[in-house]
Amino acid sequence: MKIGVATGNLPASHSAPYLMTIFEKIVKREIPARIVLEDDHLIAFHDIAPQAPVHVLIVPKKVIPRVGEAAAEDAELLGRLLVASQEVAKQLGVYESGYRLVINNGRDAGEAVPHLHVHLLGGRALGWPPG
Ligand code: AMP
Repeated sequence: MKIGVATGNLPASHSAPYLMTIFEKIVKREIPARIVLEDDHLIAFHDIAPQAPVHVLIVPKKVIPRVGEAAAEDAELLGRLLVASQEVAKQLGVYESGYRLVINNGRDAGEAVPHLHVHLLGGRALGWPPG
């Protein structure tokens, strides 16, 4: 398996080498992360460039490039990400004070990593509308 810039899911028959996403490398412990929780389906870790006192990414282990490309069969997995956010918020002390979940999809949303992830932000009053 070649390591490099991610291109998202490729079919098994594709001749190009599969390039892991940076979040897959975190799952495989090839790069470090401050992990908050993990199970068979997902992992949650602190964002490397936090935009709030609490900023965690909740990531499915299955590489879905972005929410706009999730399939009907991914519905349960998408739900798991939201349910896991409750536990993250409780662990990090923002369950009562409030928190925001964000999914950036595509260029105009500022998506940078083509591996679906839910941002959990909290620990301060968050502005609305978002920038
Ligand atoms: P997005 O713009 O929604 O694709 O968000 C990607 C997020 O991944 C950004 O908030 C980055 O700071 C974060 N990020 C990138 N690399 C890492 C990393 N190695 N560990 C933790 N967070 C990361």
